Amino acid sequence: MDAGPGARRGGLVKANIVVLPGDGVGPEVVNAALSVLATVCDADDAQVSIDVRCIGGRAIDEFGMPLPDETLDACKAADAVLLGAVGGPAWDHLRGEHRCEAGLLRLRRELDVFANVRPVKVHPHLTDRTSLRPEVTRGTDLVIVRELTGGAYFGQPRGRTGTGPDEIARDSIVYSAGEIDRVARVAFELAQSRRGQLISIDKANVLITSQLWREVVTALAPEYPDVSLTHELVDSFAMRLVREPATIDVVVAENLFGDILSDEAAVLVGSLGLLPSASLGASDQGLYEPIHGSAPSLAGRGVVNPYGAILSVAMLLRHSLHRDDLAVAIESAVDVCITEDVLTADLGGAASTDAVADAVAREALRHLGARSGAAS
Ligand code: NAD
Repeated sequence: MDAGPGARRGGLVKANIVVLPGDGVGPEVVNAALSVLATVCDADDAQVSIDVRCIGGRAIDEFGMPLPDETLDACKAADAVLLGAVGGPAWDHLRGEHRCEAGLLRLRRELDVFANVRPVKVHPHLTDRTSLRPEVTRGTDLVIVRELTGGAYFGQPRGRTGTGPDEIARDSIVYSAGEIDRVARVAFELAQSRRGQLISIDKANVLITSQLWREVVTALAPEYPDVSLTHELVDSFAMRLVREPATIDVVVAENLFGDILSDEAAVLVGSLGLLPSASLGASDQGLYEPIHGSAPSLAGRGVVNPYGAILSVAMLLRHSLHRDDLAVAIESAVDVCITEDVLTADLGGAASTDAVADAVAREALRHLGARSGAAS
């Protein structure tokens, strides 16, 4: 098998990462994540080049559009893309294709990253930091796979016609069997590598697209005999997600359902700032971003939680660069730092964004040192 452009060859990684800091707290969490990436790569003689580009509000200010062509071209040519967040009050008045979010939607579509993978793992040290009872969230370790390039966010026709009481607004949920098949395969394979349980989410009692969704997912099941597949309706699953999250392994859902469920799942861990994501397509290339937005009220204060962005870099190392060892070093370091109460204000701590990044980088180095010590 071709190990891909970022694979380890003779102890080296050579990879080109495009970085899109974006707006609000985006640049702060991205800087924190990059400092951890630089530390583990330096320690390993890995060669990763970083190409910083504009997206979102900053791109609107500089280029008059949320996704300039030069940003898109650079992303298409990269081994991986790391994004902070886009949007903010300064650009809220813009409409349609001029909105910050439109740039991000287009980027996902153009890169054809159709599977958004969102791991949700409750850290044992943080079970008392959520609004749910510790006995409910303890042991939660689930992954939501959200279809990212179809459904209501892209379906045609869409738009508004008419005026006054006759004005009509229309979005369309559209899915082809092929679009469902490819994202379901990602979820089945993920379930195979975990506890072997897959829940497919739909609203098949009402929506025609959900009926196709259920048929396509069901037809795939015989190819994955080691995975137990169940189907659940989105409304009752939304309740189960906060009632018994520790019983859930892998979840696959269409774009809109997945968007809502994965934000709901953020409640389980204690802060939006903790969660990473990877948007993957047919190649090794991926788009990696924390799940939170640009949190404008926190921007520029050095207090935003960077763990989600740092864990997104770990996902980037694993999926796009095939460096599971470096990903594990970062994830283990995050575990230790959280246990040692290196926490930002959203989790009741007093650590700055940079202090979290420094602590994770130090701990990751210790982990890598221990690894090479064990190997020698
Ligand atoms: P948000 O995720 O920015 O913030 C929601 C809440 O969580 C706020 O209270 C915020 O302070 C807090 N929060 C978020 N990230 C945090 C972190 N890392 N550390 C500590 N606290 C954190 O969502 P919002 O307020 O609905 O949106 C703000 C802007 O972000 C809007 O313009 C929205 O369109 C945009 N947005 C962008 C993305 C993206 O770029 N992928 C995603 C969601 C929202």
